[in-house]
Amino acid sequence: MAPSPSPIATFVPVAPDSHFSIHNLPYGVFSSRSDATPRPGVAIGEQVLDLRAIAAAGLFTGPLLRDSDCFHQTSLNRFMAMGRAAWKETRGTVQKLLSGKLSNILVGFSWSIDCYCYVCLADEPALRDNTDLRKKAFFPLNEVKMELPAVIGDYTDFFSSKHHALNCGKIFRGVDALQDNWLHVPIAYHGRSSSIVTSGHPITRPCGQVAPAAGSSSPAFKPSSLLDFELEMAMFVGPGNELGTQIPVESAYDHIFGLVLMNDWSARDIQRWEAIPLGPFLGKSFATTISPWIVTLEALEPFICNPPAQDPPPLPYLKEPQGKSYDIALEVTIKPDGDPKGSTICRSNFKHLYWTLGQQLAHHTVNGCNLRPGDLLASGTISGPEQGSLGCLLEQSWGGREQVALENGGSRKFLEDGDEVVISGHCKGDGYLVGFGTCSGKLEPPRCSC
Ligand code: CA
Repeated sequence: MAPSPSPIATFVPVAPDSHFSIHNLPYGVFSSRSDATPRPGVAIGEQVLDLRAIAAAGLFTGPLLRDSDCFHQTSLNRFMAMGRAAWKETRGTVQKLLSGKLSNILVGFSWSIDCYCYVCLADEPALRDNTDLRKKAFFPLNEVKMELPAVIGDYTDFFSSKHHALNCGKIFRGVDALQDNWLHVPIAYHGRSSSIVTSGHPITRPCGQVAPAAGSSSPAFKPSSLLDFELEMAMFVGPGNELGTQIPVESAYDHIFGLVLMNDWSARDIQRWEAIPLGPFLGKSFATTISPWIVTLEALEPFICNPPAQDPPPLPYLKEPQGKSYDIALEVTIKPDGDPKGSTICRSNFKHLYWTLGQQLAHHTVNGCNLRPGDLLASGTISGPEQGSLGCLLEQSWGGREQVALENGGSRKFLEDGDEVVISGHCKGDGYLVGFGTCSGKLEPPRCSC
C-alpha cells in the first residue's frame, strides 16, 4: 500500500466515519430544491459543493479549467473527456478551497451554512470567508437529488472474479473447473445502458420466459422467482479511443476517471433459460443500480495493492508492468420490509478480482472497439474465497439449495418483494475514510399480468 497522504484540515465538518473526507472529493451530478437543473458537485462531509457555482465565481484559475464550461453541463461527460491533467488540477483547486480549520475556541460549534463565524487559521479564504458564495455553493447532502453522473453511452459487464467464475461452474455445470478460456480472456458481455439507475431507484421484479417445469414441454412466462443481486464495482471511462485503435495496457489508467458501486440485478431463472449460447439478455437488462458518487483514481492511490498472481501469464497485450488492485472493503446488507437494520450477508473486497481494471480496459479495445467518455465498465460479481464473501445469493444459497439466514430470524434463497439491497464500500486511511456511500434499491412486485 502507498503511504497515506498528510492529514488536510477542512473548514467543513467531517465526522471521522464519513465516507466523504477531504481526501476523497468524489464527483456526482445533483439538483436542488432551489434549482432543478442538474449540475456537477463534490461531496464533502454532509455537504455537496456546487462546482457550477465555484466555476461561475471564477475560482478555477488553472490553465486547463480556467476557460472550460465543463461544470456548466448537466453531466460529467465533458469533464471526463478532459483527462488526468485536468482532473488533477481540479482536485488541487477544490482541496485548496476547502482547506482551513476551525480555531480551538470553536470546537463543538454547530456548523451552519447561514451563520457561522470563527477565527480562521488557514491561508485560502476565497470560499471559506465568502458568506454569499458559501450560501450559493453548499447544499446539505440529504436535501439534494442525485442524478446519473454521466450520459452512459455503452455499458459492459466483465466476469473478473475467479472465485465467482469457479462457483458458477460448479452450480450451473456441475464442473469444478474454469472454462478453458477464463485464465486467458477477461470475459465480458455488452449490457444495457438505458436501464442503469442511481441508488434509491425502486426495482420492479421482471417477468419473462423460464425453462419448462418438470413434466412440461413448454417454457413458462411468469414473474422471476429467482431474483438476485450482484455485488460489483464499475469504472467510468475518461478520454476514449478512436475506432480502429487500441488502448495499450500501459496507458489504460489514463483512460479511467473513477469507480462507483454497482448492483447488477439478475433474474436467475430467466438468465438460465435464455443465456445459451449468447449470454445474458433480459435476465440482466431490466435494471442496474450504481452509487451516485464517482471516487477518482487519485483518491484511491493510497489504497493500491497487489492483485492476485496470474498463472498462466497473460498474453503480452494484457501483461502489465506493475499490476495493481485496490483495497476496498465491500458489504451487502439485505433489509426486508419492516426491518430497517437488516442483515449484512456479504463482506468482500475489490482486491479479490483476478483481472485488473487496466487489463479489462486494454482487452475491451484490443480489437479496435472505441470507448467514449462516460462509458461504464463493470467488474463482474466480486466474490472472495469464503462463504461470507460470496457476492450474490446464487452463490450464497448454492443455486437455491441452501437457506441464507437473516438476523431477524428469516432466511432467503433469493430476494422477496419489499427487500432492499444496500451495497457499501470504503477504503480506510489513517484517521479518515475514502468511501463510496451506498448503492441501494428496493424490490417491488411485478407489473406484468401473468
Ligand atoms: Ca454481473
